[in-house]
Amino acid sequence: MAYKIEHDRPNCIGCGACAAVCPKHWVMGEDGKSDIVASKMRDDGWEELEVEDSEFDCNMEAAKSCPVNVIHLTKKDSGEKLI
Ligand code: SF4
Repeated sequence: MAYKIEHDRPNCIGCGACAAVCPKHWVMGEDGKSDIVASKMRDDGWEELEVEDSEFDCNMEAAKSCPVNVIHLTKKDSGEKLI
């Protein structure tokens, strides 16, 4: 199963938690906010990336660690929002 990660980057406060718990997928950018590695940026400033099952746990940890809840995970097939 595949998942979509979405990052509401405009509302990221740059705390660094996501990059600390899931460094494979999250890095801190030069402006102090985080980025999803290899993601695409939408017109609204959000980043998104599709990942496979094997990458789910790391990204869920990142999402749970976010103090302002700007990381979201959605099942690609059903569109079910998981966080
Ligand atoms: S945990 Fe949330 S607020 Fe902190 S850097 Fe990551 S996305 Fe931004």
